[in-house]
Amino acid sequence: EQIAVADLAQRMAVKAREVTKLLMKMGEMATESDTIDQATASLIVEEMGHNPVPVSDTKVEDDLHDAVDERSSNVQARPPVVTIMGHVDHGKTSLLDKIRETKVATGEAGGITQHIGAYHVKTARGVITFLDTPGHAAFSAMRSRGAQATDIVVLVVAADDGMMPQTEEAIDHARAAGTPIIVAINKMDKPSADPDRVLNELTAKQVISEEWGGDTPMARISAKTGEGIDELLEYISLTAELMELEAPLDGAAQGVVIESRLEKGRGPVVSVLVKKGTLKQGDLVLAGEYYGKVRAMTDEHGKRIQSAGPSIPVEILGLPETPAAGSEFLVVTDEKKAREVADFRANREREQQLDRQNTMRLESLFEQMEQGDVSFLNIVLKTDVRGSLEALLSALNELSTDEVKVRVISSGVGPISESDVTLAESSEAVLLGFNVRADATARRKADAADMDIRYYSVIYGLIDDVKAAMSGLLAPEH
Ligand code: GDP
Repeated sequence: EQIAVADLAQRMAVKAREVTKLLMKMGEMATESDTIDQATASLIVEEMGHNPVPVSDTKVEDDLHDAVDERSSNVQARPPVVTIMGHVDHGKTSLLDKIRETKVATGEAGGITQHIGAYHVKTARGVITFLDTPGHAAFSAMRSRGAQATDIVVLVVAADDGMMPQTEEAIDHARAAGTPIIVAINKMDKPSADPDRVLNELTAKQVISEEWGGDTPMARISAKTGEGIDELLEYISLTAELMELEAPLDGAAQGVVIESRLEKGRGPVVSVLVKKGTLKQGDLVLAGEYYGKVRAMTDEHGKRIQSAGPSIPVEILGLPETPAAGSEFLVVTDEKKAREVADFRANREREQQLDRQNTMRLESLFEQMEQGDVSFLNIVLKTDVRGSLEALLSALNELSTDEVKVRVISSGVGPISESDVTLAESSEAVLLGFNVRADATARRKADAADMDIRYYSVIYGLIDDVKAAMSGLLAPEH
């Protein structure tokens, strides 16, 4: 089996040039249109930090994509999709809020703004879509699923604080994804603002301002007063124009899941960003491992809409479960095909999860053998929405110390089920529910096993309890 370099790059959501560069390093000269064999492809894939999936496994999906692509036509310019990144407290949320507040077209502003994971604004130079979860955790969660949802990264740097660790990380993430950066030097209203220092520090990281002869647009802004935000939006539009972002307007929609949650009375609510084609009410969509007919669509103002084109975020009802953020979605005409691919993906997901659990067990065994004095606090975590799950996972991740390691052995969205209890029992884990409860069977099972299930509705409450549990695990000092 052979694969074209360009196709391989597309599957990994990286630039073809990155693949040819890597091939060159491995001593092989190839252009984007050359084909390489599967062994070489696997090496490349591994080298780039992905899990290789043999060709036969993806055939089901490839057939589906071929069928969908044939139906798209009428290519047009599309709005850019922007993610805001930067160090904590540098003003990412404030900036998102300010743009929403000042730029949402009047008339719509009257409606209550819903959080659907993204919103779009109309500027003099065209529409811009912002992903609403700032920070690089969401950005890399999407990318690890192969979803290149972001076209442009806006890097927020507080003028009174300068470059910080997460600023650097954000730059690295954007570079790894090949996504252009626009810098927003924020908090210019503060007397202690020192934008030149920011420019200097960024230069050291090879992010060089256009004013200094580099190619990175930088806007001096204040998310508090609104100063400079128009300029920032203009830079975004100009960058987008240079990128010549396009997508077919007609045909079956394809895109990416940006958020999903279970809502009382509404069931699974899934926010998607359309990347190609037009999504319509009544369409049969396949999203990650699930499929269903779109019963209703709403925009970020909670308004019912009938259709959504490229780069437009919408919330849809009609899927039976909540697919993971970063999952691909696409409209299919054939229900049988949808079921086939959904089953195939569900199986693959199960296998990968098993793999992860197995590796985890092995790792823990090795670790315990090597470092006799390390304790582990195992956790099984269920939450109401993906957003809180991701937030909790990253917060828990940071709790590990040299003596006690926090390990989330399983996590997901939805009520605590019997299998969660079984898993927690077999791995001696604590079972935590965030804004979810255990169902009846799970409760009985937990009672029988004399297991404690703990419920929370505040992130800090959960984190504090985990910290307390960790200190309980600490070996007494001699
Ligand atoms: P995030 O952690 O990056 O999302 O940062 P936030 O948006 O939560 O902002 C952190 C703090 O900085 C908040 O107290 C904001 O009110 C404040 N802040 C954000 N932008 C500005 C600004 O332009 N000027 C001033 N003076 N304060 C700001």
